[in-house]
Amino acid sequence: MRILVTGGAGFLGSHLCEYLLRQEHEVICLDNLITGSVENIASLADRGNFHFIKHDVTEYVFIDGAVDYVLHFASPASPIDYMQLPIQTLKVGGLGTHKALGVAKAKKAKFLLASTSEVYGDPLVNPQVEEYWGNVNPIGPRSCYDESKRFAEALSTAYHRHHGIDTRIARIFNTYGPRMRRHDGRVIPTFINQALQGEEITIFGDGKQTRSFCYVSDLIEGIYRLMGAQIHTPVNLGNPSERTIAELAQKIIELTGSKSKTAYRPLPQDDPKKRRPDISKARVLLNWEPKVELEAGLKTTIEYFRGGRKG
Ligand code: UDP
Repeated sequence: MRILVTGGAGFLGSHLCEYLLRQEHEVICLDNLITGSVENIASLADRGNFHFIKHDVTEYVFIDGAVDYVLHFASPASPIDYMQLPIQTLKVGGLGTHKALGVAKAKKAKFLLASTSEVYGDPLVNPQVEEYWGNVNPIGPRSCYDESKRFAEALSTAYHRHHGIDTRIARIFNTYGPRMRRHDGRVIPTFINQALQGEEITIFGDGKQTRSFCYVSDLIEGIYRLMGAQIHTPVNLGNPSERTIAELAQKIIELTGSKSKTAYRPLPQDDPKKRRPDISKARVLLNWEPKVELEAGLKTTIEYFRGGRKG
């Protein structure tokens, strides 16, 4: 297949491009490099079936020739990024999704939207099932991300119903691994780098809030399976193994052998108290579930930040 990946130079996008090339697909990677980086795709550059276009997906996208699949992964995804870039975040989820769907329509291509567990907001149901409509503050600091992804889901569904586009929606839960940026702000790269530098590990709130962390290779496998499925309603993809943030901090201190101490900081506004995917739908319909245990995934990620920087 000839596959367009928007946000292809980002954390998930670059792992996805690499995976697709391994399956012998041709990949067109589109990225404006606001949060993505050419380093992430440097190892792919000399492959004949990989093409990079530096472009902002919110502007008209012109792709020469056939396209079989559009994978829309462009967006800031770390809370500190999207809080610093609220308008770009809203634009890429709104206008960017419109342009990406426009390419799919013009090329008669299939479409997959990278949506997020943030559509559930600060959930009142745990674990989160796809049928849950969520608890989102429409004007809070996270609303630029949450609401643009909710809009993106609505737009994808409208293109499916109204134009018959063959769409899919992946609701991606917290994912980690190599190629996250050192100062990305998300909890795993932050804690690992604080531990490696011997700095205080900054736990927000009382550290009792939970997240469920999926290693990147598992997530990409789930995305690929969803690409091949005929499911137009959202599918949760993530690891259901739920931890508190305080537990995560201890695990990272232990695995790095760090002497860092934990320090408590105020909890950011609207920070979800619980997050855990119900992945029954993906288990049954995609025959998928994550395989990499947190400890194994953390070890690989720690190696990456220690300087190995492979992957
Ligand atoms: N967090 C923390 N210390 C940090 C960064 C994050 O305690 O230095 C917490 C944050 O408040 C949240 C959780 O870790 O409860 C996960 O945050 P992240 O930014 O990774 O993503 P989120 O799941 O909130 O989108």
